Amino acid sequence: MSALVQLVDVAKGFAGTTALHPANFSVERGKTTVLIGPSGCGKSTLLRLIIRLIEPDAGTVDFDGAPITPDNIDMLRRRIGYVIQEGGLFPHLTARANVLLMARHLGKAADEMRERLSELCELTRFSENLLARYPVELSGGQRQRVSLMRSLMLSPELLLLDEPLGALDPLVRASLQKDLKEIFSRLQQTALLVTHDLAEAAYLGDKIVLMNEGRIVQQGSIVDLREKPADAFVSEFLNAQRSLAIL
Ligand code: ADP
Repeated sequence: MSALVQLVDVAKGFAGTTALHPANFSVERGKTTVLIGPSGCGKSTLLRLIIRLIEPDAGTVDFDGAPITPDNIDMLRRRIGYVIQEGGLFPHLTARANVLLMARHLGKAADEMRERLSELCELTRFSENLLARYPVELSGGQRQRVSLMRSLMLSPELLLLDEPLGALDPLVRASLQKDLKEIFSRLQQTALLVTHDLAEAAYLGDKIVLMNEGRIVQQGSIVDLREKPADAFVSEFLNAQRSLAIL
């Protein structure tokens, strides 16, 4: 089975407003799936439903062929890495301690952790000399590299990234986009990435899932979206981002 995550009719509302109408889609193994759409269209809600930070009102989310439930989510979270926009690092812990937090909690051997940390520094191009620094002593790009290392520490089957590059300046962002692409390919990582940037989605995504007002409007490659837009919104969204690129 090629789908690692499968959403079937998953819906969510908050205080009478619908954040997500019944949604169906899958995250294929070894591929990068990108959720894109205007602010407030439900991208983060969808991601949070997968990692069960919020409970769906309806529908099921399957992980590796079995439904995610409140009973198995703690075990499943160890198989899922999660990176958020501001990195979510603990400010009172060094970069090293942030990366090793969960591995220490699980009682991993010191040698094993040291080796894995070296591997991750090499993979994310983060200098080992900076591991003793606190998050406040690192640049935004460096903090996201630490956050990425932390999410990859336990070799997760699924990596969820919620606007991981959203707060970075364009040059740092471009450099991290390139590194993310190489990392995903090297690890054959199954990844689900949220962005509102079409160029980033096209560069990183094997499959693009375009959302609007709580609904999935179209799924496919960037070529599918460009050449066979499902409706007027898809064309509008693509054109709006193209004209921005010209400016
Ligand atoms: P996106 O990630 O695409 O910007 P979100 O998934 O964050 O969108 O939000 C979708 C909709 O749900 C928005 O209208 C937002 O205001 C609402 N929403 C999200 N989380 C909550 C929450 N915890 N309580 C109330 N409303 C929420």
